[in-house]
Amino acid sequence: MAWTLAVCLIVAVIWIPAPFVWRRSQERALAGRCRAARILVLTYDDGPDPEITPRLLELLKSEGVKASFFLIGYKAKQHVGLVQQLLADGHEVASHSQTHLNAWKTLPLRWGRDVALGVETITALGGTGTRFRPPWGKLTALGVAQVLLTGLDLAWWTVNTQDVWARRPINQVLSDIERKGGGVILMHDTYGRYPPGNLIPSNLDHILALTRSLIEHARDNNYRMVRLCDLDCLGTSSSGY
Ligand SMILES: [Zn+2]
Repeated sequence: MAWTLAVCLIVAVIWIPAPFVWRRSQERALAGRCRAARILVLTYDDGPDPEITPRLLELLKSEGVKASFFLIGYKAKQHVGLVQQLLADGHEVASHSQTHLNAWKTLPLRWGRDVALGVETITALGGTGTRFRPPWGKLTALGVAQVLLTGLDLAWWTVNTQDVWARRPINQVLSDIERKGGGVILMHDTYGRYPPGNLIPSNLDHILALTRSLIEHARDNNYRMVRLCDLDCLGTSSSGY
């Protein structure tokens, strides 16, 4: 009985808390790199969306800014033209799984297959499928094993704008960036549909306003704006926007 309890306790600690601690240490390292080089990275999850993504692309193009997009595989297959446009405009196109399953609520094999399928879809469409952002940032111990064994490059964030659900005020996001000295910004080019049916129709206006404010803030405060994939190639000197 004592042995069974001990094994259950060890599994419980390894299953979710250990990957969470691992994630936090990676996020801290990422935040440190952004702070040292005064970097701001715009990242957008859960697209592409036929209404939001084209408007966002227009804005980014007019401002001369490149961003990183973490696409859901099945949506990318439905909107191949948008994926091609993202790539043609020089944005990073990476994977956010095939159907956005929650690792904590899904059987590990099913989650693993969904991640592998997402990698396959994004790679086939010309993106960097092996760069992967886990849906909701959630991993289990088996998920970590899969990431390590298949050589996936995890892409975390350091500033959560809560743009779709909680609708965090833009000035709070900017204060957070100032406090951290830059960072990787999490946003979404999608309408809020989580939980299903909870559609938030004004998300287009908010995401455009938020993006404009971030670009302005970067210019006014001498941050460099790059894609996440560019971070590895950058030194730590600051050369401004
Ligand atoms: Zn997501």
